[in-house]
Amino acid sequence: MLNLNDSGLLKQQAYMNGQFTGHPCLPVINPANGQRIAAVPDFGARETETAVEAAGAAFRPWASRTAKDRGSVLRHWFELIMANREDLATILTAEQGKPYAEALGEIDYAASYVEYYAEEAKRISGEILPAHRADARITVFRQPIGVVAAITPWNFPAAMITRKIAPALAAGCTVVVKPAPETPLTALALVELAHRAGFPVGGINVLTGNAVEIGRVLTSHPKVRLVGFTGSTAVGKLLMAQSATTVKKVALELGGNAPFIVFDDADLDAAVEGAMASKFRNMGQTCVCTNRIYAQAGIHDRFVDRLAREVARLSVGDGFEKDVTQGPLITENAVLKVEDHIADALAKGARVVVGGQRHSLGRTFFQPTLMTGATGDMTLAREETFGPVAAVFRFGTEDEVIAAANETETGLAAYVYTRDLGRVFRVMEQLEYGMVGVNTGIISTELAPFGGVKQSGNSREGSRHGIDEFTELKYGCIAGL
Ligand code: ADP
Repeated sequence: MLNLNDSGLLKQQAYMNGQFTGHPCLPVINPANGQRIAAVPDFGARETETAVEAAGAAFRPWASRTAKDRGSVLRHWFELIMANREDLATILTAEQGKPYAEALGEIDYAASYVEYYAEEAKRISGEILPAHRADARITVFRQPIGVVAAITPWNFPAAMITRKIAPALAAGCTVVVKPAPETPLTALALVELAHRAGFPVGGINVLTGNAVEIGRVLTSHPKVRLVGFTGSTAVGKLLMAQSATTVKKVALELGGNAPFIVFDDADLDAAVEGAMASKFRNMGQTCVCTNRIYAQAGIHDRFVDRLAREVARLSVGDGFEKDVTQGPLITENAVLKVEDHIADALAKGARVVVGGQRHSLGRTFFQPTLMTGATGDMTLAREETFGPVAAVFRFGTEDEVIAAANETETGLAAYVYTRDLGRVFRVMEQLEYGMVGVNTGIISTELAPFGGVKQSGNSREGSRHGIDEFTELKYGCIAGL
């Protein structure tokens, strides 16, 4: 049993129409020990239709409330999340594996979106434009788009949900959420707090169960007007195709393959610290995690030496244990992928400097790994490893590294370390990425627009831009004045 202050936060039922419902039958497993934590219902098409109808019925009344009123319900939800952050982090670590301190960080980060959009609700403004005739006025309204579906992944079980639904709710939309099957409990705890915060019946619905069936209804039901998705590029493309038949807006946050470029003039200590943070956070399982480290020839060896020292110091174990910095990977399949990438790189000439093997703790645990001699033909250069493997590529010139960094179908986050201001602008402008961290390995904040280009996605989450997805412009021409 989980050690919670409020056992009412461990929910084993889905939530729709203002009620927890369904028979718990799909087990939720703790990736650190393989043990069952709880179970959730196996819902399909029929329940999804009910949830969409509930959200549809709640939409107009919610949208008609004042922005201040919607904002105050969101604010109350934010306060309840913060008041229960330890319990939420406990549930999160139990089902997802990340170290408890990181889980607390994620809850704060998730809550920051709720706080931000509680404030932002009041700033969704229209405009009056100069008209094309003297007796007319052009008015532009920004109205909520309608029912929003959110399909979310397991790597940030709390933040990926609030980042989508807080701006949607602030704008006046109602939502149906389908969390990842690995991590439904955090979502259900969050919605329990939303229930207590006073969202209207049908305003938020959370479904667990058959992803394909739920996804099919969410992408084809005429009442759903936007499908928001964070996850793999393959599933994102499928949902986009399915949504085409009813011309829904689709907001996608897909995979990345982040380059981390260290130039000869970089502050090496800062670069090592940034590389560690951006590579090994969440055991390398984030879409903005560094996947390819490019070190310029002049500092390559010194950088690798210092990085090796830091990688060797990482402490692997159950995320609830004190001082553990690396938890388990989410599943044994994730470990197999890491092993594949390492074997392929070794066969093509790379070298392991630290780690490289399964951890003695077994099953889902893998040693934090550092490799050198990586080249563009290796699988780990082309695909996200999504695990604790730092692969270092050696490069010569600025032009060469920009070309290598852009040699991918994805374009989410990139990182650059240099102290040359001219180079900062040259490189930032040429990198085909939605986000660039300069002299920092951590860029996520509710205050900035998060998102990618190319096959990494088509939307932005966070900042005032994050609310645009959930509103539509209505042009009203008022003539005869
Ligand atoms: P990952 O490989 O990280 O699990 P996925 O893209 O498979 O990434 O999963 C992200 C989310 O998409 C999860 O909530 C998952 O259940 C959901 N999902 C996967 N396949 C489908 C599908 N065919 N239709 C709808 N949702 C899906």
